[in-house]
Amino acid sequence: MIVMKFGGASLASVESIRQVIRIVGRELHRRPIMVASAIGDTTDALLELLTHARRGNGYPAWKALEEIKTEHFALSEELLDGERQNGIDQFLRDTFRDLHVRILELCEGERGFNAELQDWVLSLGEQLSSRLLAAILDEHCGSARHVDARKLIVTNDNFTRAEPRYWETYARIRWCLPMAAPGSTVVLGGFIGSTQDGRTTTLGRGGSDLTASIIGAALNAEEIQVWKDVDGMLTCDPLLFDAVHQVRKLSYAEASELASAGATILHPETMAPAQRLRIPIVIRNTFDFGCEGTRIDSRTDGNRNLVKSIAAKSGVRLLEIRSANAPDALTELREFCQGRGEGITVLSSSEECVLIAIDKDARLPDLRPFESGCLEVRIRNSQSILTLVGQIADPMHVSRKIAAVLHGIDAFILRNERAECSLSVAVPETEARRCIALLHDAFFANPDPALFVVRNGAAARIHTPQQNMAEAKRSNRFEAFVASTNILQPN
Ligand code: ASP
Ligand code: MG
Repeated sequence: MIVMKFGGASLASVESIRQVIRIVGRELHRRPIMVASAIGDTTDALLELLTHARRGNGYPAWKALEEIKTEHFALSEELLDGERQNGIDQFLRDTFRDLHVRILELCEGERGFNAELQDWVLSLGEQLSSRLLAAILDEHCGSARHVDARKLIVTNDNFTRAEPRYWETYARIRWCLPMAAPGSTVVLGGFIGSTQDGRTTTLGRGGSDLTASIIGAALNAEEIQVWKDVDGMLTCDPLLFDAVHQVRKLSYAEASELASAGATILHPETMAPAQRLRIPIVIRNTFDFGCEGTRIDSRTDGNRNLVKSIAAKSGVRLLEIRSANAPDALTELREFCQGRGEGITVLSSSEECVLIAIDKDARLPDLRPFESGCLEVRIRNSQSILTLVGQIADPMHVSRKIAAVLHGIDAFILRNERAECSLSVAVPETEARRCIALLHDAFFANPDPALFVVRNGAAARIHTPQQNMAEAKRSNRFEAFVASTNILQPN
C-alpha cells in the first residue's frame, strides 16, 4: 500500500487533473490511498473571502465566492458525466450555499469572526477537492471512494493550527480505512480534522503533507509520495537564487530541519510520523513523471561536511540577551520564551547569553521581569536567517567557511545546539540574496552527482504554461495572503 498526496498546483486545471489520473493509473497495483489538497489557490482565495467578509465588504466577498464556485463547477463539467456529475454538482451547490449563508452572516455582523469559523471555511477547499477527485478517479481510473478525513483525524481545539491526537487518530484510521472500500482507491482531503466533539479544525497551512504522513504511518505504508509542481527538494528556493540543483536524498532530520528553517516544500511536522516507522517520503513532480524527485529516509551519507540545501527565513528580529553574573535569570528567561509558542524561537542559550528569534509579526514578549538579571540586550532588526542543512560533522569548520565567504557582511553565525544537521547565519535582510548566492557558490561548487541532479545554471522549476500562470498568480497574491494571515493576531 502507498499514500499519494497531490498538492493544489497538481489539481489546478483539467489538464493537470488528467495528468494526476495518469499517474494514479500507473500505481494502482500498489493500492494507493490518495490525499488531496484544495484545488489550485482555493485556500488563499477562501482566506481572502473571509477577510472581505470580516470587513463587511459584501460585494468582493461574494465575487471571491463566485470565482471559487465557477472553478469547481468547471472541473466537474469537464471531467465528469451523468450520475457522477449530478452527484458532485449537488454537493457543490449545497456546500456553496452553506458558505454563502455564513459569509452573509459575517458581513452583516450577525455572526462574529473566530478561529473556529476560519477553520470551517478553509476546510471547504479540501472537502470539495477530495470529493471531486474521488468522483473523477471513479470515472476514469477504476473504482474510487471518498472518505471524510474529519472522521479520522482527531485533533485538539487549537483552531488554525490544530495538533493531531495521534493514538486516537491512528486507531480510527486502522479500524476504518481498510474496511471503508475494499478494492477501491480511497480519496480523502488533507489538512482537515475535527475535535473530539466534532468541530472542524485544520492542521496549519500546508497541512496536507502531514495528513499523508499520518495515513502512511497508521497503515504502515510502503511509501508516502508527495506530488508537487517542483522536481523535489532543491539546493535553495529558486525564487531566491536561480542556479539551483535538485537534491536526490535527504534524511528525515535534514528534511525537518529544512522545513522548519523556511523551505516551504513540506509541512515541518510531516517527517515525524513517517520517521517513527521508517517509511520513506518521496517528493515527485506531477508535471515531469521522469524526474526521480527527492527521497527522504533514514539513511545518512557519510560524515563529510556536506551541505545539501540552504533554507531562508526573512523578517526576523534577533534578541541577544547577556548576563555575566545571573545565570538563573537567563535560565528563567529561556524557559519563559520557550513556552511562548508561535513566532518566538530560542536559538541558543548558554550561561552568559540567550539568543531569541522573533518573527516580524509576533509580539515582543514582556521581558521586564528579567531585567534585573541581565546586563545587556542587543536587538538586530530585519534579519534573514539562512540555514545550511546537511551532514555537518565539524560545525567549527563549516562556521569558518561561512565567515570567510561572507567576509565584509554583517553576518552573525548562530550555534543551534538543538539541531544536529544544520548551521544558521543571520544576515541583514537587504543582504540576504547576495549572501545566498555567495554561500551557494561556495558550498555547491562541486556537487556530487550521486546526491544532486546538477542543473548547469538553469533551474527547470516550472514546467507548464499553466504553472507559470499559477506561479505568477501566487506571487501576486502573496501580499494579500501575508496580510490576511494576520487575521488572528489580537489587535
Ligand atoms: N490547502 C491547504 C493550504 O493551501 C493545505 C495544503 O495544501 O496542504 O495551505
Ligand atoms: Mg493548497
